[in-house]
Amino acid sequence: MVVMTVPTDAQAQTRTKRVLLAAPRGYCAGVDRAVVTVEKALDLYGPPVYVRKQIVHNKHVVTTLEKRGAIFVDETDEVPEGATVIFSAHGVAPVVHDEAKQLSLKTIDATCPLVTKVHREAVRFADDDFDILLIGHEGHEEVVGTSGEAPEHITLVQSPAHVDEVEVRDPEKVVWLSQTTLSVDETMETVRRLREKFPKLQDPPSDDICYATQNRQLAVKQMAPETDLMIVVGSTNSSNSVRLVEVALEHGAQDGHLVDYADEIDEAWLEGVTTVGVTSGASVPEVLVRDVLDFLAQRGYGDVSPVVAAEESLLFALPNELRRDLKARDGNEAAAKVRHDAGSLH
Ligand code: SF4
Repeated sequence: MVVMTVPTDAQAQTRTKRVLLAAPRGYCAGVDRAVVTVEKALDLYGPPVYVRKQIVHNKHVVTTLEKRGAIFVDETDEVPEGATVIFSAHGVAPVVHDEAKQLSLKTIDATCPLVTKVHREAVRFADDDFDILLIGHEGHEEVVGTSGEAPEHITLVQSPAHVDEVEVRDPEKVVWLSQTTLSVDETMETVRRLREKFPKLQDPPSDDICYATQNRQLAVKQMAPETDLMIVVGSTNSSNSVRLVEVALEHGAQDGHLVDYADEIDEAWLEGVTTVGVTSGASVPEVLVRDVLDFLAQRGYGDVSPVVAAEESLLFALPNELRRDLKARDGNEAAAKVRHDAGSLH
């Protein structure tokens, strides 16, 4: 006689509990460059090194760098005259460079090259006297920086619902640009509505929503339909992280939350949950994701399957100003060694 053991609900759930882990997730090339810039500047010049705004929008990164001697300020005039200041990955308006010059600050610009690309587009279209419709979130540092390149030509469009209010001088000469970290789908909906209103609307020369934002959203879209709970590691002021929660919920995840740290996960979120999706925003170090995976494993979610939506290999060179100073230091050290070696021969 064959005896079948029927699992209890709790046993069945324990066996099927799993995690879908998004790839890519976490650091993008622009964030990596910005964080390494502050680390190397601290090594090279010694603390304190001033950073205008949060270098990237992540609580853990900022507190870690603060402990090493970085001082984060909101405005350039908070930096003592003659000191070194780093501009964050989100970019700054030209007026900020002017202020820094007036205060004789040594500046290192860690603006992500993909944000700089959007700045250049804004300048070019403004020079050609276009009205520029910048899709983005009011007050976000990147939007403030891009708008500052051509304030008379740029109108901010925050969402599809705002399209009705948009007015331009010449509907024949209008182009849209965007913040780099928006929801791809919502942005396309805004563009669709703008084009209904302005049929001659021009597209940007290339995607403004960056590769990292797109890839992280793509992975979440693939995971969401199978996910009971999506945990996005990221800070509340991180635009791309907040978008990941929204994208997850729009594409079928039953529940979704943004957490800075594993200990912010509420045990109640896991009640009745079989599949947990895990991802992280572009400014999030991997160690914080590992902490979340450990937290989940301790609660029976030890089966982790990657969901790979894209491969990423992009890297950006450090800012020129910093590379120049690093090279000079290396040159001095090499010369000192030669002098020392020559001295020991005598
Ligand atoms: S999210 Fe995109 S634009 Fe922003 S820093 Fe990363 S690569 Fe650059």
